[in-house]
Amino acid sequence: MIRAYVGLGSNLENPLQQVTDALRELQAIPNSKLVEHSRLYRSDPVGPPGQPDYINAVACLETSLEAEQLLDELQAIEQSHDRVRVQHWGPRTLDLDILLFGDQAINTERLTVPHAFMCERSFVLYPLAEIEPNLVLPNGDHLSEILLECPMGTLEPIAL
Ligand code: ATP
Ligand code: MG
Ligand code: MG
Repeated sequence: MIRAYVGLGSNLENPLQQVTDALRELQAIPNSKLVEHSRLYRSDPVGPPGQPDYINAVACLETSLEAEQLLDELQAIEQSHDRVRVQHWGPRTLDLDILLFGDQAINTERLTVPHAFMCERSFVLYPLAEIEPNLVLPNGDHLSEILLECPMGTLEPIAL
């Protein structure tokens, strides 16, 4: 079994509900187990201006799927949430990204793992640190040190 970390994000059509539903749907991915997930966080949008705020979270799965099979499952969940790709980094009902897949470094047409921008994104790093404070990336970098370079800014956990 491999530990995979998945970043969730939504900023359309009731984002809180989208992310809450997606966390439940992650539990149903075959040959996998949802180990834990972070709280939900509110973040300012990146990409084109004028978008609604995001809701983000990070989940940890244990899986015997291959990385591309996990991506297939995640994309099926995105589709079931009526994800429409209109604009790069534009608003979306649900985004499910593979942040880490064990200690694998993957560079294929469909997958870049570790996720290309995770170390610059407070909305990824802080929820990840909440569930895995002692995480070490495949390149040996410690999450705790990456966090020092990435201020939390306006990111805030949501009290539910
Ligand atoms: P970003 O990568 O900046 O978070 P995004 O999540 O908005 O952007 P998407 O439109 O969701 O991008 O995905 C575009 C493509 O990215 C997907 O079709 C997928 O093949 C590819 N991709 C590459 N690496 C990953 C990864 N680690 N997790 C999910 N998708 C990935
Ligand atoms: Mg993304
Ligand atoms: Mg994505």
